[in-house]
Amino acid sequence: MHELSIAQGIVTVVDEAARGRRIACVNVEIGAVSGVAPDAIAFSFDLVAEGTCAEGARLNIIEIPATARCEDCGLEFPITDLFTACSCGSFRKTLLRGGELNVRSIELEPQER
Ligand SMILES: [Zn+2]
Repeated sequence: MHELSIAQGIVTVVDEAARGRRIACVNVEIGAVSGVAPDAIAFSFDLVAEGTCAEGARLNIIEIPATARCEDCGLEFPITDLFTACSCGSFRKTLLRGGELNVRSIELEPQER
């Protein structure tokens, strides 16, 4: 399952970054055309976070809208999938944003003393 391995990747990265401290929240950016379903990521995250610093952490998904630039007329336009054509009729385009899948930041629980 695609999303499970992605969630595993996220947990590995944030677990390392937390250095044993508990994570309250993980902010993740998911592009609209990254091919990843945010719901599936959130579900998988809870599963793979078990037993790590990220257990019980909230996964805050920031969805990034997708934009492409037409290679024929230069217009920048929003796309909902990779098969959206430019208004000039061209399908040749460069994805400017919307393909990302990044961990933006983590928020740690206040340190217990
Ligand atoms: Zn165009």
